[in-house]
Amino acid sequence: MSTPGRKRREDIWENFIFDVKDNKTQCKKCSARITGKNTTNLKRHLQSNHPEIHTQVSIFHNIQLTRPYPFYYTAY
Ligand SMILES: [Zn+2]
Repeated sequence: MSTPGRKRREDIWENFIFDVKDNKTQCKKCSARITGKNTTNLKRHLQSNHPEIHTQVSIFHNIQLTRPYPFYYTAY
C-alpha cells in the first residue's frame, strides 16, 4: 500500500544516519556517534550541539502531536 505525499519527512532522521552493524547513530553535522537509535538521545544531542536544528525538529513534532490526523495529510 503506497501513501502519496509520504516523503515529506523532515524529522529527526534527516540529521542522523543509523549504523545497523555497530548499533550506533551518527550525526550528519558533527559526525558524533551515539549508541543506539533512541530519538530521545538524538534530540538531546541536537539540543546541546545544534540548537537551531533541535528547534526545527521540535516544531515538526509539535505539529504532529497537535493534529488529529497524519501530518502529510495536512501539508497542503
Ligand atoms: Zn552533531
